[in-house]
Amino acid sequence: MDKIRIFDTTLRDGEQSPGASMTVEQKIEVAKMLSKMNVDIIEAGFPISSPKQFDGVHRIAEAIEGSVIAGLARTLEKDIIECSRALEPAKKKRIHTFIATSDIHMTYKLKKSKKQVLRLATDAVRLAKTFTADVEFSAEDATRSDWDFLIEVYAAVIAEGATTINVPDTVGYTTPDEYKRLIEYLISNVNGIEQAVISVHCHNDLGLATANTLAALRAGARQAEVAVNGIGERAGNASLEEVVMAIRTRSDTFGFKTGIMSELIYPLSKTITSYTGMQVQPNKAIVGENAFAHEAGIHQDGVIKHSLTYEIMKPETVGRQKSTLVLGRHSGKHGLEARLTELGYFPKEGDFHKIYEKFMEIADKKKEVFDEDLIALVEEELNILPEIFSLIYFSVVTGNMVLPTATVKLKKNDTIFQEAATGDGPVDAVYRAIEKITDTPIKLKSYSLNAVTRGKDAMGSVNILVERDNKIYRGYGVATDVIEASAHAFLNAINRILNNNTGS
Ligand SMILES: [Zn+2]
Repeated sequence: MDKIRIFDTTLRDGEQSPGASMTVEQKIEVAKMLSKMNVDIIEAGFPISSPKQFDGVHRIAEAIEGSVIAGLARTLEKDIIECSRALEPAKKKRIHTFIATSDIHMTYKLKKSKKQVLRLATDAVRLAKTFTADVEFSAEDATRSDWDFLIEVYAAVIAEGATTINVPDTVGYTTPDEYKRLIEYLISNVNGIEQAVISVHCHNDLGLATANTLAALRAGARQAEVAVNGIGERAGNASLEEVVMAIRTRSDTFGFKTGIMSELIYPLSKTITSYTGMQVQPNKAIVGENAFAHEAGIHQDGVIKHSLTYEIMKPETVGRQKSTLVLGRHSGKHGLEARLTELGYFPKEGDFHKIYEKFMEIADKKKEVFDEDLIALVEEELNILPEIFSLIYFSVVTGNMVLPTATVKLKKNDTIFQEAATGDGPVDAVYRAIEKITDTPIKLKSYSLNAVTRGKDAMGSVNILVERDNKIYRGYGVATDVIEASAHAFLNAINRILNNNTGS
């Protein structure tokens, strides 16, 4: 069976979606997980766009050994040089250069003729080849470009040594049959096409990203550009989990495979949700909360008798050992470490120690600690910034006949501060008390509370977005008590503001 290369762009196109930006440390963690799951190419960022982007690509290039690390560059000389500098430490590196080829983009955005665009494309590939043998060229907005112009551009860049040619559906406009015909047309007409891998990059504006990707692969494309949870510009990119699991589940009809370890999909999905604050809809394929839940009695009955009656995939194949008992307080440090490694987490020693202490606290309260609990714990730990204020104590008085009142004690350096406040509800009261102490008034933009696992003793995780000085900051907290989780999330956001570390 032919192997499809999986090119993950969660850290580039995905991170470009509003409010999804990650810290450099978080990006490195994600890159390690992607590499562990055998993603062939990791697009780590767009180095020239900001110093933070450069740093992200550079540090991922240092940290990752297995996967190819790609950086994005326009066809400008300065972009390609900056990209090559960022990729310097990578064991395997790829420069991914792009220019738009559709009439609408060339006329209005680039204000350039076809001839000029062709020239820029070939010059860029020639320059990129002086830094690495592995060069990808994208004809931006390919699906709205003149097919015969595409033939000319792709043949020219292949002649300059481009090893991958990407045919992006930048605006999510194409349909499966049209896209399949385009790929077939390119295969029949581009000179030298057999020397390059054809890549596809689909956006989900019409909900067709996965279908379009699969249609192109069927036509002969051999690289799929995807993002975890389908995040990305506007309606997002084709999602990694859908493309990988469609290929795996229906290898009988597709006749090709990927090298992805699908068991790491779910922990990775959870990590991306936590780092970006972008929640996955419950009915999302593969990774949504309900993706493997059977509600109707007749379905439940069938699944109990034989899981394949209503399940086309086993939850375990995507890493969802749904609420199976994994660890208790007697599991010890080795048990915890082994399970974290299996889940794809490699915390540093200091972080591991803190995770272990929290794990023991939870094991005391809950007795049974599930994978989802561990994932939430690790994520809270990895989300932690230098704590300027930390929570020492809180108490709330609430009820349907009393005014909700909170008392909160916070510590800053060695000083303890205490305040009380009333609010519309207990969480609001706690937030007002924290605001008084930290003297950091903020506007709460969104608040979401999720149960980490099922059951009455489940831990709650809280994600919030707050606004201060026209900037959006994120906060994340987890605890067995939902008000405590809310307080942690609020303090996390305030510490982020005070550290001036934009989480937006
Ligand atoms: Zn894109």
